Amino acid sequence: MSVTLDGPLAGLSLNTATVREQWTLAEIIPACRRFGITGVAPWRDQIAHIGLDETERLIKGEDLTVTGVCRGGMFTWSTDAERQAMFDSNRTAIDEAATLDAQCLVLVVGGLAPGSKDMPAAREQVAEALATLLPEARAAGVTLAIEPLHPMYAADRACVNTLGQANDLCDMLGDGIGVAVDIYHVWWDPALATEIARAGDRILGLHVCDWLVPTTDLLLDRGMMGDGVIDIPAIRAMVEKAGYDGHAEVEIFSAETWWKKPPEEVLRICGERYCSVV
Ligand code: ZN
Repeated sequence: MSVTLDGPLAGLSLNTATVREQWTLAEIIPACRRFGITGVAPWRDQIAHIGLDETERLIKGEDLTVTGVCRGGMFTWSTDAERQAMFDSNRTAIDEAATLDAQCLVLVVGGLAPGSKDMPAAREQVAEALATLLPEARAAGVTLAIEPLHPMYAADRACVNTLGQANDLCDMLGDGIGVAVDIYHVWWDPALATEIARAGDRILGLHVCDWLVPTTDLLLDRGMMGDGVIDIPAIRAMVEKAGYDGHAEVEIFSAETWWKKPPEEVLRICGERYCSVV
């Protein structure tokens, strides 16, 4: 998955959430190419909005690498109906990732099941769902990427909160599954260097933004690279030492700042910061 095209932003991928409030996917995809960004990671609701066929046509027309499809997962459930809906949704996500030749399907694994306080049970459901879906993903030619999320999301988004947990799951499950390293979620981890080295060639993505101090919203206050406290080059060096040579994917959810700016300005600054602080 190494980056081969030329230009200063050839190693940059745009997670389409970054400008989702300003542009549709049909506007984002050509904009990537105009800015010299060579990768894109679309969200499934944005794909649904313009249709999978149109998404595929636009991305292939601009010759962009799909660094990930966001997202599958949400594996925890309380009722049989929820369980069935979860598998249905993930099977569709695998099909979409296959159609778009995505380097991986990003998985946010889900938090506690509705109405539950049983975290070990949630983690067991995640492991079971992964074991069921992985052979299907392999058959479809899709690689699954577990994205550990910061522990502040353990209740409602992801009960896999460290790279160590994600690596344990990968060890258990075998080929066809790896990890997405999102620095926003893992930068604080005392075992970060060890677990990045352990992940090795199972690193399927590097997501970048920054941790603002103070952070005013648990979900929608991510910072632009360079505006916060994460030592991004240090983490990038760790993943490169582990063998990762793919894109850095900028992924910023920012309701009050970046989602309110003109999208061209957001992309211009993403490019500048990619060159100066990533
Ligand atoms: Zn991410």
